Amino acid sequence: MPSIAVLGSTGSIGVNALKVIDRLGPEYRVAALAAGSNWCEMAEQARKLRPELVVIGDESVSDALRARLPAGIEVAVGAEGLELAASLPVVDTVVLAGTGAIGLPAAMAAARSGKRLALANKESMVMAGSLLNSIVKQHGAEIIPVDSEHSAVFQAMHCGGRRQARRIIITASGGPFLDTPVEKLALVTPEQALNHPTWSMGPKITIDSATLMNKALEVIEARWLFDIDADSIEVVVHPQSIVHSLVEFRDTSVVAQMSLPDMQLPIQYALTYPERIEMPLEPLDLCKVGSLTFRRPDTERFPALELGFRAAREGGTSGAILNAADEIAVEAFIDGRIGFCQIAEIVELTMDCCPGVAEPCIKDLYSADAAARKIAREACEQCMKQSL
Ligand code: MG
Repeated sequence: MPSIAVLGSTGSIGVNALKVIDRLGPEYRVAALAAGSNWCEMAEQARKLRPELVVIGDESVSDALRARLPAGIEVAVGAEGLELAASLPVVDTVVLAGTGAIGLPAAMAAARSGKRLALANKESMVMAGSLLNSIVKQHGAEIIPVDSEHSAVFQAMHCGGRRQARRIIITASGGPFLDTPVEKLALVTPEQALNHPTWSMGPKITIDSATLMNKALEVIEARWLFDIDADSIEVVVHPQSIVHSLVEFRDTSVVAQMSLPDMQLPIQYALTYPERIEMPLEPLDLCKVGSLTFRRPDTERFPALELGFRAAREGGTSGAILNAADEIAVEAFIDGRIGFCQIAEIVELTMDCCPGVAEPCIKDLYSADAAARKIAREACEQCMKQSL
C-alpha cells in the first residue's frame, strides 16, 4: 500500500497530486502533508486525509493549525519539519511540489532515506543535480520527474535507453510574450507577466515562464536528471503545448510524448510508474488540435535561456547561483522594483561575479546560494537607484 508525503500540498501541483491520489483509491494513502503558510487549507486537507504528520513552514501559525486538527496528527515546523516528512519511515513516495531552493533539504532527505521522489521542485535538481544523483544511487532511491517536459523525456527514454539517446528536445510554450517586440518587453508589467496562456501555476514559475528562465531551469534539470551534456539538449518553441518533449536516438528516430496539457498526468505517472492507470482526462484529438508548430526560441529577446545552457555546461555551483539570483530578481520584479528585462541581466551579472566551486558539497551549494542572493540583491538596488 503506497504511502505518500505531499510537500507543498496547497500549491497547484500539491492540490493536483491530492486529486490524483484520491482518485487512485484507498490503496494509496497520504501519510504527511506540508505547506508554507496556507494553514487553513492544509488543516482542511488533513481533516479529510488523516495523515500522521503535517508540516507548516511559517512557525507563527503552528498553534492555530494545531487547534484546527483532529487528535493524533503530529505537527512539525520549518525546514526541519520538511526533512522529517521526507524521511518518515512509513512514507515510500515523496511528492516534492512547491518552488524554490527551500525544497532542496527535503529532496536530500528523501534521497538519503531511499524513497521514490516524485520531483516537481526543479530547483533541487538545478542546484544540486550531481550531488543528488550520487545520494540517490548510494541509498537506492529513485527520482521520477513530475515536470511535464521531463516526464515526457523520462517516458520517451523507455524506447531506447539512456546510452542510445543522442539528443533531448525540450518544448517551450513560449510564454505570454512570445511575439512581443523587444522594445515592448522592457515595459511588461508584473500583471501582464502573471497571465500565462496555457498553465495555471504559482507566481514565481509564471514569471519564469514569461522570461523563459523556466526553460533555462529545465535545461539544467534535464542535464542532471538524464546525465546528458548541455550541448545535446535543444529547446524548441511549441505554443500548443501538446508535445511535452522528445528524445532523439542514435538511429535518428525521435520519440515524443503527447497529451492535452494537464499536470495530473505526469503526477500520476510518477506515483504509479511503471504502471499506467486509467485517468478520466480528455483524450487527445489531433484533428481537433489541427496543427502543431515548432520554431527556434529567440535568444536575443529571451537571453535567460542561454544562461541555462551556460549553467548546465559549467556545472558545479553554477545552477545554484543562477537559481538564487533568479529568485531574488523575480521577487524584485513582482514588487515593481526592477523591470522585466532586468531579471535576466541580474542573473547574468550574478553568474559573472559570484565565485563558484567545481565539485561542490552541500555546504558549498548553500554558500553559493547565499552569496548569489547577496550579489543579486545589491544589483536590484542598483537598478532601482538608476531608475529613480
Ligand atoms: Mg515544465
